[in-house]
Amino acid sequence: MKNFRPFITIIILVSTFLFTGEIKSEIKDVVLINSYHPTFMWTRELTEGVVNTLSESEGYRISIEYMDTKRFYNEAHLEAVKEYFKIKYSPLNVDGIICSDNHAFEFFLKYGNEIWGDKPMVFCGVNNIRDFAIDSSKYKGIAEDIDIAGTLEIIMSLQPNLEELIVVSDSSLTGLLFMDQFKRTITKFPDLKYSAIHAVSATQLGHELSNYAPKNRAIYILSLYIPREGATRDMIEEAAFLQSCLDIPIYGNWNFLFGDFIIGGYIINGRDQGVGAAGIMRSILNGQLEDIPFLAPTPQQIIIDYNQLKRHNLDASKLPESTLFINKPIGYFEKNKSEISIIGSVLAFLMLVILVLTRIIALKNKAESNLKKSESRLELALEGANIGLWDVDFRFNDVYTNNGIAELLGYKKPADLNYSLKEWQSIFHPQDINQIEEAFVMHAQDISPAFNGEVRLKTSSGDYKWFALHGRLTHKENNKPVRMVGILMNIHFQKEFEEQLQLAKEKAEESDRLKSAFLANMSHEIRTPMNAILGFSDILLYDQANREEFLNYLGMIRKSGESLLNLINDIIDISKIESGQIKLKPETFDLHNLLDNVALVAQTLIKSKKKDITLVIKKELSQKELIINADPFRVEQVLYNLLNNAIKFTASGIVELSYEIQQPDMLTFRVSDSGRGIAPNDHAIIFERFRQAPNGSNDNSGGTGLGLAISKSLVHLMGGKIYVESDIDQGATFTFHIPFKPETASLKTFAQKHNL
Ligand code: ADP
Repeated sequence: MKNFRPFITIIILVSTFLFTGEIKSEIKDVVLINSYHPTFMWTRELTEGVVNTLSESEGYRISIEYMDTKRFYNEAHLEAVKEYFKIKYSPLNVDGIICSDNHAFEFFLKYGNEIWGDKPMVFCGVNNIRDFAIDSSKYKGIAEDIDIAGTLEIIMSLQPNLEELIVVSDSSLTGLLFMDQFKRTITKFPDLKYSAIHAVSATQLGHELSNYAPKNRAIYILSLYIPREGATRDMIEEAAFLQSCLDIPIYGNWNFLFGDFIIGGYIINGRDQGVGAAGIMRSILNGQLEDIPFLAPTPQQIIIDYNQLKRHNLDASKLPESTLFINKPIGYFEKNKSEISIIGSVLAFLMLVILVLTRIIALKNKAESNLKKSESRLELALEGANIGLWDVDFRFNDVYTNNGIAELLGYKKPADLNYSLKEWQSIFHPQDINQIEEAFVMHAQDISPAFNGEVRLKTSSGDYKWFALHGRLTHKENNKPVRMVGILMNIHFQKEFEEQLQLAKEKAEESDRLKSAFLANMSHEIRTPMNAILGFSDILLYDQANREEFLNYLGMIRKSGESLLNLINDIIDISKIESGQIKLKPETFDLHNLLDNVALVAQTLIKSKKKDITLVIKKELSQKELIINADPFRVEQVLYNLLNNAIKFTASGIVELSYEIQQPDMLTFRVSDSGRGIAPNDHAIIFERFRQAPNGSNDNSGGTGLGLAISKSLVHLMGGKIYVESDIDQGATFTFHIPFKPETASLKTFAQKHNL
């Protein structure tokens, strides 16, 4: 920093020089020559007007001079002033001179050129300016015309009953000029009676005024300088004196007369004159001389002292609106005008804010109520449609659910389902998670326009139910999902229905397939005996046969016929059962006898098939007869079907038929064999129509697949149940129960045996 000091000093010096030089070249020297003295209010105010207008900051330098001629006027004095000015201003190149009032103006006209050279001059306060023959293109100024006519009108308005106007003036130049002007003006007011007083001393003035009765009188002071002790006294100095001797309203045109003295009138003041003259000087120094008129009008205004007005009981409302009042008591409002206007503005602003806020709140309330309405409409619509609404925020793993979702999942309220996103995933059926994740990814990557899926969700009871999910991502950030909104619908019944439809379809297809298989079997079953019948008939018709052969062939034909008849009976039975046409015909019969018959048929069958099968019939009771009441034909039919199958599916071994009475009215039959058996998976299907165990038809065992279906239907018809116990190569045991009515004898035996 130290190293920079000389450098900085140089910069400061150079800039100071430049700066000072610039200012110097712009300074404008103006001399204000006042006719009067600085303590004279008119002059003081006029000076202030000039100084404030041509301010130093604008580059004006004002030299102020007071010739003090109001108090001290003589030619020698003026000569001395001239000499003094000549000496004083010789080194200065003055730019312009402002002259206030007549003496200064006349002084300048006489000596100005000699003192300052040919310089622009502006005048003000010169009463009779129009009487001077001066170069109006060079010298400009402000008129000092007092509005005597205007003031007389004010006097007459305030005092309509005025009987006499007392006009007072003095011996000063101003006083004499204004008295002349008054006398010219008063001719325009022929009804106004007046008397003029030329004031030479306060005593004389006081004495003369005391001659007037104050009632309906007014005093108009044009000028009031009274010589005293070698100098004139200021007008205002006489005011107290005059005020003390009379009680007559006083009017005047000079602002310095205010102050417990005059009421007012068209008032002119020194400040306005000074400001106006300085403004003209500024324009001249700015080079606008040609644009400036010779004489600017006198700035003046009606000003009234409110205190004086009240003192003389004069009515302020008679005055023009433009009247400016001084000393007017200020009302609370006017006194605190600025505060009140600030508070008012603040209040108005607050009111405006309140109004705006009220409007905003009203609009907001309306929007909220509309929103609520629309929300409740939506909620009602969703509720009516049994649809739940969900809203997921992925940033916070937050899931919103409405009442509908809770209801759909069997909960009372949404709070019961206060799950995070992860927890929600746990209620999805494990088999559906992949599918739903795939749907979400497809939507998140804009491959699919919406998120759709059908999933099973765990309900409050722990069961899974089917639901449809439809949603859409409403907001993404950096291509990451932020928010997704959607609905949840219960499609469980629809799904179940679809499943049932599918099952029904599959069943129909199966049934169709079975029917085809049945037809194929049927044709086989019909063709085989038919071929036998036709073949043996042909032999009998066309070939020679001995009696034994003849009988044998006829037997074959009969057997085939029987076989056909059985088949047809089966078909008729199943269709009758299906159409509900079969009626049970219970009768009293001997069960042992029935079993013997069945055994005989079975034995014949074994023989005819030439199978090495031992048939065992187990009768529970040893007596010859067991009389019961049931439908013997249907019992026999079932037993025969079961024995027929047992023999059919047993190559060799044992076929056993047994029964037992488990309760007094329940018979249980069992047909078991040691044949090829049935896989447990096929246990149910073999009781269905046209169904055969898979290897059933492959071993040429034939059959229609109707036997067990008929047996099951008959057992059910009789009020019982049928089932099988078997496995591959383990043989098979078919069991069925039927209710029955034991006959007394048999029952007795039965009861004895079972200690009942
Ligand atoms: P069909 O015997 O005319 O085929 P069924 O309804 O009587 O018709 O029997 C249906 C199927 O049940 C049979 O085709 C066979 O596959 C199986 N089945 C029935 N009884 C037995 C048995 N005792 N041993 C093995 N399989 C059997």
